[in-house]
Order: sequence, then structure tokens, then C-alpha cells
Amino acid sequence: MTEPLMQALVVRGPQEHALEQVPRPVPAAGEALVATTHVAVCGTDLRLLRGTLHDAEYPVIPGHEWTGRVVEAPSRPELVGARVVGDGITPCGACPRCAEQKPNLCENLDEVAFTRPGAFADFFCIPAANLRVLPEELSGAEGCLLEPLCVALHAVERAPAIEGRAVGVIGGGTIGLLVAQLAVVAGAKSVRVVEPGEPRRAVAAELGLSTDTALRDWDEDQPEIVFDATGVADVFPQGLRATRPGGSYVLVGYSGEDATNYEPSTAMLRELSVHGVLSGYGQLDRALEVVTSGAVRLGPLLSEPLPFQEYASVLDDRGENAPLRSVFTSGAE
Ligand SMILES: [Zn+2]
Ligand SMILES: [Zn+2]
Repeated sequence: MTEPLMQALVVRGPQEHALEQVPRPVPAAGEALVATTHVAVCGTDLRLLRGTLHDAEYPVIPGHEWTGRVVEAPSRPELVGARVVGDGITPCGACPRCAEQKPNLCENLDEVAFTRPGAFADFFCIPAANLRVLPEELSGAEGCLLEPLCVALHAVERAPAIEGRAVGVIGGGTIGLLVAQLAVVAGAKSVRVVEPGEPRRAVAAELGLSTDTALRDWDEDQPEIVFDATGVADVFPQGLRATRPGGSYVLVGYSGEDATNYEPSTAMLRELSVHGVLSGYGQLDRALEVVTSGAVRLGPLLSEPLPFQEYASVLDDRGENAPLRSVFTSGAE
């Protein structure tokens, strides 16, 4: 008997990627086999394809922002046929960081699309316990954005209490606009998004958010809590200077191994607190809640889905005109 094959985006090394026919995975004990219906490509995936992702392990099948349909789930048979999303991260539960209740920082993290094959394939496997049924009212494309929303929720959790405070968000990409919406939900006194690109500012406006074109627009009245969602190293020192003295700076964008010129006294003289945000483990139920309640909107952040075969279009440098999130469909449905 020949083993069944499936198509998958396989990244064999920096700038070495193609849709390939590979064996369809077989779920291990406790795992589910999921057919990918939608998968999104984010900045991290671009770095994986280009070879600028810290500690990337090749070969790998990317795809950590996805919606799928359960094909097999021996440990949760009620899920078979259901449209699902899932927490791609499984902490080990045994290392020192897990013992400190910091599962995001687990030293032996199992993560879909990084330490195990991801969802940019017709099928992939994930621990069945990590799955949640996608509510009817959400589209498959919107389901893909629950993962970045989990990251945004953790960013807000890492910041000091937002209620009644002036909040600034640098970068009007997906994470930035999710964080900004969450800051509104959390009762911020004001929320301002800095984004130079006109198309992204239009999306922010559609979401009811105020925008500025440059950090200097904050000079008159600097925000007390600033989220840096740019993933651009050189923004860091500028962002610190744009934060109100005594305030907090939350770094949620990933800038790889890029370095920048930074004077430590920028933070010291202003008594700033800096918080890093790695991922969004454990936030999925809350993410589903804020979306189904209508408090956070995902639709305006998405592009029209394209077939898997057109994945390489994400590598075109479209600068400020790039859609916030490019979504692909496997053609399975
Ligand atoms: Zn991502
Ligand atoms: Zn651990």
C-alpha cells in the first residue's frame, strides 16, 4: 500500500521553499489530524522563508495562524467534522519556567509550525486538547487571526493597567491594530496609532481608531503606555523617547537579529519600564470571547483568500500597500 500524500509548503532552508508532495501525517496518541481550510502568513513566516528568523530549524512546514476541520481525533471524537482553531503552543509542564507559571517561556516548548509541522499543508497534527470549535459567526479567514489576537492579549496583560491611561501604539499592522482595539476595550483614556502608510491608516479608521503619521505627533502629549508593534529595531530608541517619563514600553514586534543604536540612559533618565512579549499561550478562550462579543473586529484586517499555489506573492515587497494579513486556502473546501 502506498502511503497517502498531501501538498505542503516545505521550507528547506533560507530562501529555499516550494509546495511539495509529502506523506500525510499520522496523529500520535492524544493528537488530532486537522485538514487546513485557511492559513495566514505573518511577518514571522516571511522571516522563516527569507532566513532571518532567530533559531529557525529547517526543514519546516510553516503555518501557525490557521483554521481547520477535524478529520481524526481518537481522544475527542466529538470534534470530528468540526471547524476548529487551536493553541499551537504546548509547554512541557516540567521545566523551571513552567514551574514558575511562565509557560510562554518554557524551555522545551512544542509549537506547531516551529518544532513540529505547521498548517501550510492539506493536513497537520496538533494535540487534541489544544483545539476549540470556531463559532459559527466567524469566517475561516477570521479564525486565522485568533493566534495574533492571543499575542495582543498577552501584550495587554504584560502592560500596567490600561484603564484611564493614555495609550500609544506604534505600527498599524495586524498586531498593532489588535492591541489598539484591546486598549479601547480595556478602558484607555485615549488610544493613538502611529502608522505612516495610508492604506493601514484607512483600516485603523474603519476600526474607529485615531491615527498619527509620525512619532513626533505625540510630542505635545506623550502616551503613558506605548506598544511597539513594528518589529523594526530602529523604532525602539525613538519609541522610548516618545513615551511619557515614568511610562511603560511594551515590545511586541519581532525584529530578529537586527541591532540598533540605543542609549540606555533614554530609559534610565525617563524611568521607563520595558516589557517584552513573546507569544500568546493560554489566551485562546479569551480571544474567542472578545471577538464573538464584537469588542474586537477582525474582518477589516484580512485580505481576500488566495489558493496555496500563490503563497510566494507574500514575498513581493509591497511596502505600505501590503494587505495586513494574507490568507491562503488549501482548496480542501
Ligand atoms: Zn504569526
Ligand atoms: Zn516547560
